[in-house]
Parts: sequence; C-alpha cells; structure tokens
Amino acid sequence: MSRTYHRDSRGRFATQDSNNNGLMQRKDKNTGEFARFPLVMQMKTIKKIARKYKIALKDEDGKPIKIKIVRDKGAISAPFTGRADIKNRIDLLPRAFTSEEDMARTLYHEKLHLRQYKEHGQAYVQNNRQWFEDAADKAEVDWWETVKHL
Ligand SMILES: [Zn+2]
Repeated sequence: MSRTYHRDSRGRFATQDSNNNGLMQRKDKNTGEFARFPLVMQMKTIKKIARKYKIALKDEDGKPIKIKIVRDKGAISAPFTGRADIKNRIDLLPRAFTSEEDMARTLYHEKLHLRQYKEHGQAYVQNNRQWFEDAADKAEVDWWETVKHL
C-alpha cells in the first residue's frame, strides 16, 4: 500500500492510501470512546434509519422533532438509550447507536413519550411515570413486530 500525503478540503493534512479510502479524519466510523458503537453518531445515520422504519421525525402537527446526539462519555454506561424532552426533543444516548434495531426502537419509544407529554401534560406523566413507561414499552414491542422485516 502506498501512502501519500495531501491536504483535505479544510486544509488539514491527512494520509491517504492508494485506494483512496484511508483518510484519517474519516466520518464513516466513530472514534475514541465511541468506537465500540457500530452506527456512526451523526444525523445522517438517524435520518436513514428513521426513513427505513417509517418513523416521521415530526410531531402530529407536522413540527420537526429536534434530535440531540449525546456525545458524552459519561452517558455510555447509562441504562437507557434515549430520553424525551418536553420541548419536542429526543436525546439519543451512545447506546442507541448499537444497532439499527436499537436506534429505531429508541426513536419510536421516545416519540411516544413526546406525545404523552403533549396529551397529558408533563406533570401528570411524571407523576404516573411507571404507567406511561409501561404503555410506551408495550407499544414499542408491538410496533417492532410490524416493522422488523424492513
Ligand atoms: Zn421510556
């Protein structure tokens, strides 16, 4: 393999191997602490999986749902993959990037929580957290059965 040096489009030096796939600043995989997660932690990945499993990244009124990728080392060991924020936002934790299934189920599940907040109010949902969690879990399991073949 011959290596050449060149500047990438931002003027930084990067190495490149002879078949053009060896850019060091690659964006096709996660690096460092996040290298263990197979899905690349970027919006493109999320949108692609949402499209595949027919999850609209919009609420019932057609307003876009904000997505935040939590690139926080401390979140790697969190026991959940996502969280819903009352302000129409879904936070995706690193473990959501484990597989397409994890990503799809997380998006679907957290969207249900956004809807619960909207329909019942944040206080009521949080005061009855377990009931709403169980409802979201059950809906998520049923939904996955209908789309997992995609
Ligand atoms: Zn939940």
